[in-house]
Amino acid sequence: MEVAIVGAGLAGLALAAGLHSRGIQAHVFEKSPNLIVDTATATSLGPNASRALDGISVGLSAAIKSVASITKTTKVTFCGSRNGEETFVTRYDGVRDDEFYVVKWRSARSILASRVPALYIHCSHALLDYRLEDQSVALRFQCGGEVAIFRAKFVVGADGINSAVRRAMYPADRPRDLHLINWNALVHNPGRFSVHDRDQIASIRKGPSVSFLVDAGEDYTLWVLRVEDRSTAKGSSDGFCDESGKARVLQEIDKLLGSSPAWEPLKVAVEATEAGQIFQRRIKDRIPLDSWSDLNHRVVLMGDAAHAMHWGPGQGARTAFEDAHQLCELLSPALAAGSPEDLKRAVIRYEELRIPRMTRIQNFAAETTSIADFMPAWVTELTPGDLWGRWKEFQQWAASYPLNITGDPDSTYFKNIDNGGIRTHDLQIRSLTRSTISRNV
Ligand SMILES: Cc1cc2nc3c(=O)[nH]c(=O)nc-3n(C[C@H](O)[C@H](O)[C@H](O)COP(=O)(O)OP(=O)(O)OC[C@H]3O[C@@H](n4cnc5c(N)ncnc54)[C@H](O)[C@@H]3O)c2cc1C
Repeated sequence: MEVAIVGAGLAGLALAAGLHSRGIQAHVFEKSPNLIVDTATATSLGPNASRALDGISVGLSAAIKSVASITKTTKVTFCGSRNGEETFVTRYDGVRDDEFYVVKWRSARSILASRVPALYIHCSHALLDYRLEDQSVALRFQCGGEVAIFRAKFVVGADGINSAVRRAMYPADRPRDLHLINWNALVHNPGRFSVHDRDQIASIRKGPSVSFLVDAGEDYTLWVLRVEDRSTAKGSSDGFCDESGKARVLQEIDKLLGSSPAWEPLKVAVEATEAGQIFQRRIKDRIPLDSWSDLNHRVVLMGDAAHAMHWGPGQGARTAFEDAHQLCELLSPALAAGSPEDLKRAVIRYEELRIPRMTRIQNFAAETTSIADFMPAWVTELTPGDLWGRWKEFQQWAASYPLNITGDPDSTYFKNIDNGGIRTHDLQIRSLTRSTISRNV
């Protein structure tokens, strides 16, 4: 086959939809037996996601918005800061009313899947590894009790944070544990808004403890709670909770309620949720890489496989769509030309456009853990007002995609708060904890 995409998450399906709309018959291989999997998650999307989605395929952002809830404001309450409790309500200047929206992950995935011919989606195919050959890549899959081998001219690893493609490319690389545990649930809430205002994302923060309450569309409320947890990640598995899991969430909220009644609406939402609807996961990310491709430029990474980050700034899915958009634009002429040199140039350009931007976004996302191990020291000293200013500027820069795709934001907080007048973009690129592991050649 010409193109094989490993992973049918938001990234892989968005790319497949875009390639099919350009006449390229990409195949998608997914390890789950079907696409009807729930993660109890909703995703907040913004202008960069919309522009990328419409670049992938005309009308895609409108299709997703049709099942989403439009967000007009974000309200953040910082508890336990030096000045006591501080609340900031923000709407981004100059953006249209429908530019920020929240959609259930499952709904976004089925809309994307509906744009890929079913014959090209192969479930129950778990990639084991791949091998480079002269003119192609041999992919080894576990399909039930059998191992099957397929060959493709070009392979895209869109198989998420635990990517098997990335493991074959960088054998020593592993996800990084961020010392946080997270619970989230989608609660059917047809009477909506008793625990959150209409059109608003409501967040409460106290150090690393953060909650979100938001309308996720289709009569669902999303709640999220994350707290610091330094117990070893080994042995803890992600998945839906039982009653003891729900009791732990309520215990954590009771501790937080000691500092402020602002957490009360979260408690109401959690109490109204059945234990089996609550998804627990440890938060992990990936350290930025210098290259997302194999040495012969026939295998490339995208989405969480390339740049898994903490969900803090809400950019994981948005930037997965940016990757898909850029790959569609670059790959289609290169595949049509049919020469390995054209493909190589397309991959090099993709990496030039994406890696500096994503390195910055990944580092900012790590900062939003509020855990000192993952933050530059000077950021730990910022007041809630300055943190919120920095957050808004970051979001405005991220939202401006594809403008400033590799450049600096026009920033007050990013430029002025930095020490020594060094621009944050340069600073972050230089001070990165880059992965020291080398590619498998
Ligand atoms: C609680 C939470 C809230 C979030 N909120 C936001 C938000 O507000 N905004 C935002 O933009 N992002 C958000 N994100 C991040 C976003 O959901 C992810 O970045 C995005 O879904 C990643 O998509 P992906 O397709 O790259 O990876 P995934 O969704 O992980 O998809 C990978 C796919 O590959 C398959 N797979 C894995 N291994 C193999 C294999 N060996 N062979 C074949 N298939 C395989 C998996 O089954 C899966 O279907 C949030 C994430 C979480 C956890």
